[in-house]
Amino acid sequence: MKHLPDFIRNLIDEFDKLPGIGPKTATRLVFDLLHRQNDIKSFADALNEAHQQIHFCPECFNLTDDGLCNICSNPSRDKTTICVVAHNQDVEAIEKTSEFEGVYHLLNGLLSPLEGVTPDKLKIKELVKRIEKNNVQEVILALDQSMEGEATGLYLSKLLKENGVNISQLARGIPMGANIEYTDEVTQSSALKNSKKI
Ligand SMILES: [Zn+2]
Repeated sequence: MKHLPDFIRNLIDEFDKLPGIGPKTATRLVFDLLHRQNDIKSFADALNEAHQQIHFCPECFNLTDDGLCNICSNPSRDKTTICVVAHNQDVEAIEKTSEFEGVYHLLNGLLSPLEGVTPDKLKIKELVKRIEKNNVQEVILALDQSMEGEATGLYLSKLLKENGVNISQLARGIPMGANIEYTDEVTQSSALKNSKKI
């Protein structure tokens, strides 16, 4: 790679930082992109625009373009029921079912002490504050069924019990190891209906 100009190596390094993309794929994507003269410009413009517009909802930490996201600012959503998720794509997946009328809270990841993701790295403090401030009655944990998801769920249920809220977990219609975003809408919809108190 040493023979490559710096700008190409930098670009490969940036792609390599993305999850699920190793150095080999990063290199292939960059070479492919560099051969598409017209696409590079629109790709760069889209990234630049995203960089300028990116904004996190101050309530739920979902991505939005300005102020509160359109779920938090919707007066018909029930602010006393919070569905806790790890990632933005989980919100999209649950919204597709149209079954959930509450609001969300994005943790921005899952606990993974081995990778240095400790509770202070996630939006947990903010969740507790929000529960207290908005008199939240019900928290539904909709986390991945992975080791990290289980650990995060356990940590949160212990922590939140002190606040006297009802905590339930998305029912186990979702196969072990599955990410919420990949489960189908029907499964999720029945999982939401059957969410169990823990
Ligand atoms: Zn929001």
